[in-house]
Amino acid sequence: MFCPRCGSEDEDLYNGICKSCFVKEAQLINIPSDVEITICAHCNSLLKGIKWEDSELAEEDLVKIAVIENVETPNYVDNLELLVDILTVKGSNYECMVHANGTIMGISVSEDHRVNVKIKRSMCPDCSRYASGYFESVIQIRADKRFPSSDELQTIDDIIRTKTGALSVKNRMAYISDVSVIKEGVDYYVGSYKAARKLSSAIKDVMGGVMQESPRLVGRDKSRGKDLYRIWISIRLPNFKQGDFIKYEGHIGQVKGFDGRKILLKDLESSNIWSVMWKEYNRIKVIARSSDIKITSITSKTPKFIQVLHPETYQPVDIEINDRISDLEIGTEVKVLEIEGILYILGKYKNNAN
Ligand SMILES: [Zn+2]
Ligand SMILES: [Zn+2]
Repeated sequence: MFCPRCGSEDEDLYNGICKSCFVKEAQLINIPSDVEITICAHCNSLLKGIKWEDSELAEEDLVKIAVIENVETPNYVDNLELLVDILTVKGSNYECMVHANGTIMGISVSEDHRVNVKIKRSMCPDCSRYASGYFESVIQIRADKRFPSSDELQTIDDIIRTKTGALSVKNRMAYISDVSVIKEGVDYYVGSYKAARKLSSAIKDVMGGVMQESPRLVGRDKSRGKDLYRIWISIRLPNFKQGDFIKYEGHIGQVKGFDGRKILLKDLESSNIWSVMWKEYNRIKVIARSSDIKITSITSKTPKFIQVLHPETYQPVDIEINDRISDLEIGTEVKVLEIEGILYILGKYKNNAN
């Protein structure tokens, strides 16, 4: 056998030519001279086929990856190493050089290929939704029988801003597309329902209140055969503050604090701490405000009764002694509260304490 290219004899032939002629003619890689990629001008997401993929990478890295992904290698190539250099950048055109090193049939080969990468800038669906004011959920800030106070609204606004910033790192749809102040309160329009849920529970953890979700059908996604809902999440802030007195199932307690799940109360008669879940809110009655607490002093004491002057009528009132108040002495200033015609001694009066 002899090689038709170089005429050498006694060699095995590959594709009809000798080994050295084959290596000389073979290529390590094939790559188109022009490559185009589409990225979102707002968030750098990359379009792959028909799908947009999140990307944290800089444009230059996306270009290099696009080059590598367009490389085709024949199966007779071993030990392939690729290096992409960006030579020049003109607008959205990246002129690149691919340095390829590898072996073909045991012989080292090096090649350089010039590739032009063009970047097409577009807008991914998430960003175009954002641009068009799209929202999946509305958080309604309300208060029971009142308008939320400006302090409450300020605290809530701070929570929403901080939390949205944190959520948007992982979820591009975690944005507020609109805020509107209406007669009953404030509405926050949120891009993603998931984000809206997280925001709402963060608000409830700090502010307490009653949360309710109501989905509304807004249309149908024909391509996916799914009904489209928007979810309204309302947070109703309570009609009481820390220090106020509420009645629940016959017990009266002073509100000591609350979290997202329950209200902590100090019992007016026993001083025990107990709690009521927010979902029981409708069965709670506000019975007195912290501002209704009055100061008076003890005028006499018997084994069974403590006598104080009524803070408004100045008439003497006998109050049955219990363990909680048995230590109080004549002349001591005490905090009292009148509820449903009954005067309760809350405790010793110390300046600036409730
Ligand atoms: Zn040959
Ligand atoms: Zn985008």
